[in-house]
Amino acid sequence: MLDLRKIVTDSDPKIRKKSINVEFPLSKEDEDTIKYLYDYLVFADDDKNVEKFGVKPGVGLAAPQIGVNKRMFAIYVPYFDEQGNISSITAHAFINPKIINSSIRQAYLLNGEGCLSVEQDHEGYVPRASIVTIKAYDYLLKTEVVVKFRGYEAIIAQHEYDHLEGILYYDRINKKEPFSRIQGALEI
Ligand SMILES: [Zn+2]
Repeated sequence: MLDLRKIVTDSDPKIRKKSINVEFPLSKEDEDTIKYLYDYLVFADDDKNVEKFGVKPGVGLAAPQIGVNKRMFAIYVPYFDEQGNISSITAHAFINPKIINSSIRQAYLLNGEGCLSVEQDHEGYVPRASIVTIKAYDYLLKTEVVVKFRGYEAIIAQHEYDHLEGILYYDRINKKEPFSRIQGALEI
């Protein structure tokens, strides 16, 4: 059982604050935060926990979403085979991530994005880079990593990174034409 923390929503100014870097060696508190971000995603990926504890599942969670304005986020994206069993998982627990490369080509989800911190629906495309390279310390591997994300995973990584800057997905929706398509963009 996970000792659940409250998810900060966009009505709280903390979600709009720019997060600060994490210092190494990691403090106990920072370590607890990064562990929680990852553990939450795994915990909420289980239907039984969703039912029993009312947790909301998600593929990413950033520290400001639990009220900690420090540069950390976790990603947990399971993939399933035809039998519905997990065939592979993309999982990271990033500390001090930096986007060191972004493609010019853009990508967006045709169904738009969602966020655990945003209760109200905001419809529209959220244009992002279709490929990003992130350099970070990965707490799961306990080492510095450079990871290239493409398509759906690139979108998740940028969505979570935005949280560290106090940016929410709907900030990036074209207000006048939320569903205006972008020439050459990857549509997922
Ligand atoms: Zn979010």
